[in-house]
Amino acid sequence: PLASREFHPENTVINVRGQIIGGSKPVIMAGPCSVESLDNIVEIAQAVKKAGGNVLRGGAFKPRSSPYSFQGHGEEGLKMMAIAREKTGLPIISEVMEPDKVALVAEYVDILQIGARNMQNYPLLRAAGKSGKPVMLKRGLSGTIEEWLMAAEYILAEGNPNVILCERGIRTYETATRNTLDLNAVPVVQHLSHLPIVVDPSHGVGKAQFVRPMARAGIAAGAAGVIVEIHPNPAKAWSDASQTLDFDEFNLMVDDVNRVASAL
Ligand code: PEP
Ligand code: MN
Repeated sequence: PLASREFHPENTVINVRGQIIGGSKPVIMAGPCSVESLDNIVEIAQAVKKAGGNVLRGGAFKPRSSPYSFQGHGEEGLKMMAIAREKTGLPIISEVMEPDKVALVAEYVDILQIGARNMQNYPLLRAAGKSGKPVMLKRGLSGTIEEWLMAAEYILAEGNPNVILCERGIRTYETATRNTLDLNAVPVVQHLSHLPIVVDPSHGVGKAQFVRPMARAGIAAGAAGVIVEIHPNPAKAWSDASQTLDFDEFNLMVDDVNRVASAL
């Protein structure tokens, strides 16, 4: 398989507008769960930049558990993210949920996100592969590592070598946290594959107070970076408020991540 280390012994390194993913320094992607307004996303982008973050995240097409919850601003949200990129120079990542929307989302973003719920949406994976954009593939809620790597294979098989894997927590019997961040996946994936793997402790634990220790742990396990949800006023965030860091907490996390990485 194209994803396997046997096929491709060297680590894949991806350059997105000058930000290196899978290189010697950890990559930090951060932003709101959902893009809310232009002012809000610009304020957040400036905070990411100031803290030394590398990529701005933000959801425009949102996979919500309830059809009655905010579904995201769609293309308007992507336009807001593009303005935030213009103002900060940070590359942007946003989720695409449908094959028919890949071309539209790819017009705006630097990295396409495939969400956990779509890990095995094969038409979507193929379309993302054809887009030519780097793709961050999140692990499915109940996806095994083998299934996840075969999902990545669909993207690679379309001739797109720029795939980032994201461990975002799996379903277990544990209810104290939203999911269980499977840090085993980090060294296991690195053994099996050359693709960079980042961790998402926000969705992995679901509670803001546990995000920073698990970000540190992900980096200690060898992850290429972290992706986290941040907001100037987490309690007011339109989605995933309980797992969202404020700017002070985010700054502490960035320091921690860099300190752990430099100790490795
Ligand atoms: C997200 O990144 O906001 C998201 C919906 O993530 P996941 O697909 O991991 O649930
Ligand atoms: Mn979220």
